[in-house]
Amino acid sequence: MGFPALRPRKKEVPFIHNPHSGKNTPRYGYGKILADIISTPRYTYGASTLNELKSATREIHSLRSEIIGFCGGDGTLSLDLTRILREWAKTPSLPLPKILYFPTGTRCVVAENLGLMEHSADEFAKRIRYKIDHNLPFETAHLNPLKINDQYGFMYGVGMPASAVQHYYDKADYGCVDGNREYGLEEVLAAASQQVFGGDKAVKPPCRFTCRWDKASRYDGRCPKCGRELQRILGNKRFNQVVVEALWDEIRAKLLFRQSHRLLTKPAYAEIALPDGHEPPFAPYLEYTGIMCSTIESMGNHCRAMPLARQKPDHFMLRCMNLGFWGIVRMLPFLWSGMALPTGHAFDAVVPNLTIKFKDDTVRTIDGDLGTSRCDHLGIGPALEFIVG
Ligand SMILES: [Zn+2]
Repeated sequence: MGFPALRPRKKEVPFIHNPHSGKNTPRYGYGKILADIISTPRYTYGASTLNELKSATREIHSLRSEIIGFCGGDGTLSLDLTRILREWAKTPSLPLPKILYFPTGTRCVVAENLGLMEHSADEFAKRIRYKIDHNLPFETAHLNPLKINDQYGFMYGVGMPASAVQHYYDKADYGCVDGNREYGLEEVLAAASQQVFGGDKAVKPPCRFTCRWDKASRYDGRCPKCGRELQRILGNKRFNQVVVEALWDEIRAKLLFRQSHRLLTKPAYAEIALPDGHEPPFAPYLEYTGIMCSTIESMGNHCRAMPLARQKPDHFMLRCMNLGFWGIVRMLPFLWSGMALPTGHAFDAVVPNLTIKFKDDTVRTIDGDLGTSRCDHLGIGPALEFIVG
């Protein structure tokens, strides 16, 4: 008994990873570890640029693979899926591959919605490897992405969501790359004892230098203490800073009877047209502090801001509002828990498509990546089958 000669071996799940992602974080090199568990060097594709990603997906498409693996955060997921779906669109008769996605980025909201965050990525990879080797069936979950013009993603945001992402990156503190690393207690103690007792000079204690975003140029992008490159400090800490900065801006404005800077609630001007037969045909406002479209309910940290996202097959949820900062604060319990908002505070709809025309070039976010647009057509992408166990 033998297998047909040309059939690819089961072990060979094509795997894409970005060899440079997570540089200076504990996640650096994680993609390679996952690739080694799930694939072989022959079918592992390092893609750190869009062109490399394009040629990797093209080659994987020509393999007619049933599964495609990759890792990263929400932004990478959106980029990779966009390339994969564009490639597979060339052969409509060829079924889409199953998606084997490992959430390894700073923000993994889509993975949270799929229930992929319960185990570490390498535990998950080993479990899938075992199933492949023993020919066991996978557990899968179906999820449609949004199609925004010719791009695919799961969360679309204008106004508050986009301002938050923009502010998150723009005004982030800079720190010495060493300060971004998470040191274990042992490592710190070893470094400290070497400082006191001498020994190998190669191990230095971690440098904790940080400075404000506007001071980084003063130091020429180099740490004045140790000379290493200065980098933006992001992650949950930065996310909390954004919330506190916006809150202080609004409180200061209240105390001084001044207009706030509206760090998060700067309005966007847009006309949202809903599909034929939908009443009302237009969303009610022209000025919005937030427009959100999504095919997933939770926006991360268990905030169920889009409760109707998966209510109807091949539809997505639109939620738009023209609430000021304090209005949003008052609505927060509703926004968080997924309860319906009191009437008049927001406009919700479940639609298969819609068109947003902006008055000016407007910044919007797709899965945490920023872009500018004048007009966006939103529809629903094909159902994707994610391997979840
Ligand atoms: Zn330093």
